Amino acid sequence: MATRIYIDQGHNPRGFNTGAEGNGFYEQDITYEIGRRLYDLLSSNPDFVLRLSRPTEDTILGTSNSSSLVERVREAEEFGADMFLSLHVNSAANPSATGNEALVYSPSSTVSIGLGEEILEQLTLTTGLRNRGIIYRPGLYVLRETSMPALLVEMGFISNPYDAELLAYSPNLFAIGLYRGILNYYS
Ligand SMILES: [Zn+2]
Repeated sequence: MATRIYIDQGHNPRGFNTGAEGNGFYEQDITYEIGRRLYDLLSSNPDFVLRLSRPTEDTILGTSNSSSLVERVREAEEFGADMFLSLHVNSAANPSATGNEALVYSPSSTVSIGLGEEILEQLTLTTGLRNRGIIYRPGLYVLRETSMPALLVEMGFISNPYDAELLAYSPNLFAIGLYRGILNYYS
């Protein structure tokens, strides 16, 4: 049986539920691009069946900030996803904050933790950014309301000039890190 992964590119392109901004870049543009590239990489493997939250650059989910999140979870449930993988870019007041981290619902989210650890390890190898580890976030809507395992990956910091340029100009490094982590976990 193929593994069904719902790849949530995190944010809408404009209007409501847009992402963070930093160093002249927009989170939603970066997560759109990395998600699309991850989709292309995984599509060549018959072991995976995929759905993107933003199949096109202009896709807008929901009619408000909260319904945009509701719609992502609804789509993943309808798709029958085995994994809800949400892609984001971190942001902090301190511009020196850097690295990749993975958010899961709780310490009992063993599938999400296992996948998150593999992804963080591979992202460290492909991007050179430090591994900030797994963080428990029971309050996050997409982690709390999904019936399937869910993982939210924060790739770098848009507020860090180095991370932001790496994300914007070398999205493939992040897509390949995610891809290799997924292959390692599910093989
Ligand atoms: Zn975000």
